[in-house]
Amino acid sequence: MEKTSRKQYEFKAEMKQLLHLIVNSLYTNPEVFLRELISNSSDALNKVRFKQVTGEEVQSPRLPTRIKIEVDEKEQTFSIEDTGIGMNFEDLTERLGTVAGSGTMEFIRQLKSQKNKLDGNLIGQFGVGFYSAFMVAEQITVETRHADPEEKAWIWISDGKGTYEIEESGRTERGTRIAFRLKDEHKEYAKVERIKQLIRKYSNFVDYSILVNGEEVNSRGAVWHKNKNEVTEEERNEFYQFISNDFQEPMDHLHLSMEGRINFKALLFVPKKAKPDFFRTENLKSLQLYSNRVFVRENCEELLPEYLRFVEGVVDSEDLPLNVSREVTQYSPVMTKIREVLVNKIFGMIEYWAESEPDKFRTFYDEFGPLIKSGLNSDFANRDRIIELLRFYSTQSVEAGAGKSDVETEKSGAGAGKSDSGTGNKTDEKTALQDMFSLKSYVERMPDSQKEIYYLSGDSLEELKRDPRLEYFRKKEIEVLLLADPVDAFVVPGIGSYKEKPLKSIEKADLDLEDDPDDEKQKDRVSGDALEKLIAVFKEEAGDRVEDVVASRRLVDSAATLTVGKEGMDSHLERMMKMMDQDTVPSKRVLEINPSHRVIRNMSRLQEAGNDEMVRLMARQLYDGARLIQGELESPGEFVSRMTRVMEQVSTK
Ligand code: ADP
Repeated sequence: MEKTSRKQYEFKAEMKQLLHLIVNSLYTNPEVFLRELISNSSDALNKVRFKQVTGEEVQSPRLPTRIKIEVDEKEQTFSIEDTGIGMNFEDLTERLGTVAGSGTMEFIRQLKSQKNKLDGNLIGQFGVGFYSAFMVAEQITVETRHADPEEKAWIWISDGKGTYEIEESGRTERGTRIAFRLKDEHKEYAKVERIKQLIRKYSNFVDYSILVNGEEVNSRGAVWHKNKNEVTEEERNEFYQFISNDFQEPMDHLHLSMEGRINFKALLFVPKKAKPDFFRTENLKSLQLYSNRVFVRENCEELLPEYLRFVEGVVDSEDLPLNVSREVTQYSPVMTKIREVLVNKIFGMIEYWAESEPDKFRTFYDEFGPLIKSGLNSDFANRDRIIELLRFYSTQSVEAGAGKSDVETEKSGAGAGKSDSGTGNKTDEKTALQDMFSLKSYVERMPDSQKEIYYLSGDSLEELKRDPRLEYFRKKEIEVLLLADPVDAFVVPGIGSYKEKPLKSIEKADLDLEDDPDDEKQKDRVSGDALEKLIAVFKEEAGDRVEDVVASRRLVDSAATLTVGKEGMDSHLERMMKMMDQDTVPSKRVLEINPSHRVIRNMSRLQEAGNDEMVRLMARQLYDGARLIQGELESPGEFVSRMTRVMEQVSTK
């Protein structure tokens, strides 16, 4: 048989960049290379086991599924060999030679921002996988044969500097062997004890035996199959770190064992923090699916709705046939039922935190709140449960300070001891500064006379606190929710009402506000004909950019503000829409002026005295000032020159 000769190939451009970074950086955690290689082997074994149980023909069918690691301390060599699916020519050039798509550039960006300090944890989270071996090796040789009996065997060699070579190999058994000589500074990885220690640390749950120089090391087993009382916290956390590549412990877990109409086991975790690329990747990861301990699929999207994809873990059900294709599982009633149970249990857990573990809830909400909120628009069956989980800042949180919020009741009640963990301080500070409330608690505080739930949305809490449109509500001591999370502006208007109380933006011009007859200022307010004459000038000055000009009842200390007409969109939401789509047509505003304000009263007097030009100047200036506050003023230059003209008229006489 004639072999094809050795040929050289080039890595893709972004791979070169990545390899350069890996090879030339300082590593804080090079040991993860071992976890990455074992995890690749385990994936490859999963794939071949799946082929076998579904009756496909494979190369070397009687070969046991296992991972063999050989080290030689004297020679400083390392090798790992599996009896998995192997790689064909295309795998070697297309998959081993590229890093899974969208995450890569993000990874490179983060690497650079770490100032050349390559953190092994980062590698794991981005799945740079195989290439992490270049942290410890100068040159890597991969010898592989695909499980498909039709395929040939290959040798792949690279020093990770931009090119690799491929030639045919005489290997007959299916599987992959990866071998290299360790760099001097990393020769510790040629020590049996060191390798064993790392396997116990990272790879204890790999479902295949791992042999190191002939000796089996891992205490494998499907943790989720054990009785939940038999699993220690340590074992569970290790399992979590194993499946998630997270280096922290999980926030919480659910260990389920369902029997009856539907049978499945699940071990689910909620991470403390979202992964660095969590919100960027289009495909949020999902749960792993097993069928009676046989791995079926990673990222089984059908198991959880998108807005719960922060949950990690495994689901194992005997009720699903093994050779389930995606199309089948999508519409399978078993899958639908499992999903229902999972969603219900996950909500139950989060609701429990909200009720009894405020610190956990707060950490969770800060991290995954925006994702949960997106469920409002997609999961109508659980809408009410999501609504109960929402938390908002309000004028109460800003003014009352700490101690009132729904998310820190435990702290303020029982003292700070109990639930304080390592992160306690940070949480303390956060909750004390920025307490948040549920809609339920808002409604409980509403006086009987108040019929609506009020909110205002904006870019930040700081900005919202200063908003002139809150003046009236402050004076009347009416609580207003302050929506500072960008997602809120999109989802809150869609809630409609809560406990039959409509949610209403205070920007809306048709607010049902009462006049206050006792108000001192009311006596001096411009009214009647004078007011109408003044309003006419405002209308002329603002032109058709405003829908209407009206006398405001909501302003106390400011002279003018812009609100939104009945049909209009919140100004904050509109600004965000505009950022996403330049063609968004702005809705018209209503200009509200404050007839009790000194400036408006002065304007009326100037109008009486016939100083029309000054009145126009001031009207224009007030209108533009209101636009400026809302970030809607296009021509600050004109604004300033007009202001200068007004000031010129100030005389000492
Ligand atoms: P990832 O594992 O995140 O896909 P890697 O760089 O570690 O990234 O691996 C790239 C690809 O190379 C894998 O998706 C797989 O197709 C292939 N591969 C790597 N190691 C093995 C192995 N031991 N056996 C079979 N295929 C492998």
